[in-house]
Amino acid sequence: PLPLDVEAIRADFPILSRTVRGGKKLVYLDSGATAQKPRAVLDAERDFYENHNAAVHRGAHQLAEEATDLYEEARRKIGRFIGTDDEREIVFTRNTTDAINLVAYALSNAATAKEEAFRRYAVRQGDEIVVTEMEHHANLVPWQQLCERTGATLRWLGLTDDGRLDLADLGTVINERTKLVAVTHQSNILGTINPLEPIVARAREVGALVLVDGAQSVPHQPVDVAELGADFLAFSGHKMLGPSGIGVLWGRYDVLDALPPFLTGGSMIEVVRMEGSTFAAPPQRFEAGVPMTAQAIGLGAAVDYLTALGMDKVDEHEQAITAYALQKLQEIPGVTVIGPVDTVARGGAVSFTVEGIHPHDVGQVLDDLGIAVRVGHHCAWPVVRRYGVPATTRATFYVHTGYDDIDALADGVREAQRFFGVVPGEVK
Ligand code: PMP
Repeated sequence: PLPLDVEAIRADFPILSRTVRGGKKLVYLDSGATAQKPRAVLDAERDFYENHNAAVHRGAHQLAEEATDLYEEARRKIGRFIGTDDEREIVFTRNTTDAINLVAYALSNAATAKEEAFRRYAVRQGDEIVVTEMEHHANLVPWQQLCERTGATLRWLGLTDDGRLDLADLGTVINERTKLVAVTHQSNILGTINPLEPIVARAREVGALVLVDGAQSVPHQPVDVAELGADFLAFSGHKMLGPSGIGVLWGRYDVLDALPPFLTGGSMIEVVRMEGSTFAAPPQRFEAGVPMTAQAIGLGAAVDYLTALGMDKVDEHEQAITAYALQKLQEIPGVTVIGPVDTVARGGAVSFTVEGIHPHDVGQVLDDLGIAVRVGHHCAWPVVRRYGVPATTRATFYVHTGYDDIDALADGVREAQRFFGVVPGEVK
């Protein structure tokens, strides 16, 4: 039996009862791209608009007070979910991409900040930023751009043939010139869970900041910022059962407080004069304009839902599903898993290729059967290049995934092989 009661959980997700492609049961194996939403999240958003809608931190009326209370309660809840009681460390953003860009722009703005207090972490010519070859474009392109703006140099840790980070050069790639190390906690394409401890320890030795891309880890395993030891953690609400349009940047308070703003305007200021302005303390400094209030409250409801299931159980559940998927897929002749094939330090993103069939064609056959997967380079182009494939088919799992979904996937892959007449080992 699986750790989670899949049938009971499925009943909480209205979308899972619809059919697709002419009456086929929906088999949703694309939670890594975006997760479906339980009724509790949909209800929380609807309740906000029906009963409390107002601009937070502004109006002098009851609705504004209620909206502000709900918004700030969501912030505290989300903080506790990742192990901090200091809600000033939780900055609401649009998504992971937005959170990472916030940090990248703050670090380059720091170089020209008028206030000395904001120049501490400035990135300048000659400095280095370290990433890995495993990064989603969201944790790669903003750093490339930061380097272009500042004259800093981008360096990276490579990958091993079996889909893990190659730490052999850790001591030289991260060095005295390194200002920041940006690393994904869990790869969205390989499923690999990275060993953050030696990376954080090396970064500390040289005084570099560490940003962890938690887009694929925070939704799927218990994550505690105190244990991580990093300076920043970025993640997206929509991948953890929450609404789209809301994400989180957690930052160590003293680090956030030493950073200049990225976006400027209303809500983030202290004093404004025609001659110039000063800025509010975090998190307000980084939340310009009227925020995504219903979305933040919806994310709070998602966190409640996940907490009620228990993140340890969510993790165990996905481990069991992943082990089963690795086994079922590898039993099929012609299927190659791209990424670790054991379940040690590995999460539930299983990418694979099918000999003789383009991943887009695999995706098409699966879609005709009602099975939703993702195909392509998964916004991590250097990874597919590293493993010499044009693209992969990727299945990702969540709390509603059962063994039946994996059986359907494996049957679908065999169906694709029959359809394209490429059954390895069989003479046509
Ligand atoms: N990092 C990783 C590891 C991801 O999987 C994703 C989403 N695919 C992102 C960053 C970007 O997330 P978002 O599009 O929500 O900003």
